[in-house]
Amino acid sequence: MSAQIIDGKAIAAEVRRSVREQVELLNESGIQPCLAVMLVGENPASRVYVGMKQRAADEVGMRTIDKRLPPQATQDEILAILDEWNADPGVHGILVQLPLPAQVDERTVMERIRPEKDVDGFHPINVGRMTSGDREAFRPCTPAGVQVMLEHIGFDPAGKHAVIVGRSNIVGRPMAAILSQKGPCANATVTMAHSRTADLGAITRQAELLVVAVGRPESVTADMVSEGTVVIDVGVNRVDDPSAPKGYRLVGDVAFDEVAEKASWITPVPGGVGPMTIAMLLSNTATAADRLAGA
Ligand code: NDP
Repeated sequence: MSAQIIDGKAIAAEVRRSVREQVELLNESGIQPCLAVMLVGENPASRVYVGMKQRAADEVGMRTIDKRLPPQATQDEILAILDEWNADPGVHGILVQLPLPAQVDERTVMERIRPEKDVDGFHPINVGRMTSGDREAFRPCTPAGVQVMLEHIGFDPAGKHAVIVGRSNIVGRPMAAILSQKGPCANATVTMAHSRTADLGAITRQAELLVVAVGRPESVTADMVSEGTVVIDVGVNRVDDPSAPKGYRLVGDVAFDEVAEKASWITPVPGGVGPMTIAMLLSNTATAADRLAGA
């Protein structure tokens, strides 16, 4: 079998189009959705991500607030800005780019964001609602984007064995919660694997849907995948490549070429899950604006 490619860029463009329509409708009622973004420190990857998120928000007609703080910023300074944004009716979505510097406690910061404005879906209230089956809770953007991709290709996880490799709070764990929910494009039987899983290949070969989020370049190989599996590669890894213009290239956690020979569908890296993450952030922000306006 040779896999069909799941075109994350195209699916994300569709999501963004529908968000733009939602923004236009809100504008008609005098509301301009606004995403407030905070970046603390100089992490180069974080700067790139924040820039991409803000550009994407601008493109769909949202207002953005861009708050940059130096690496030595204190937790109290951060919390004071969040309190301001929480109280500001003109701010609908709040995002604090992770990771934060060592002197700042991430959990305290995440918990300070008003759950109604928590468009990253990391606040424990939203996590709790999602894991207890509430489909209206804000969901972390990456796994939410994976579900939209599955819907798009017409893959119904109901009754299927979904294996998720990785148990981070950003990807693996919420992915398991989303796929095992009751409701459309869910109802899967879920196994979550991690670094302590014994004989990972024996588990991944059982997957009808395999979602990989480990952060290890091309670590899922063809011998670990059964014929016809739908393979979603969340990983984004830089590997040295002297022949590439920047001296490196991006690869996923899945050995794409060999796994594509066996999978039925597969996401590429780049151009797979990555664009969906930003599209879902926009979608969550538009939803937040809509709900806060109606509140
Ligand atoms: P984390 O490092 O937080 O988690 C990695 C997970 O993989 C952990 O649960 C770890 O297990 C598990 N793991 C590590 N090594 C192995 C192994 N050999 N076998 C099985 N499991 C293993 O990473 P994230 O979840 O944040 O990200 C994963 C990848 O996805 C990264 O490449 C990241 O860049 C990418 N990513 C991409 C996004 C996108 O938008 N495309 C968004 C977010 C992440 P344990 O818990 O036991 O340590």
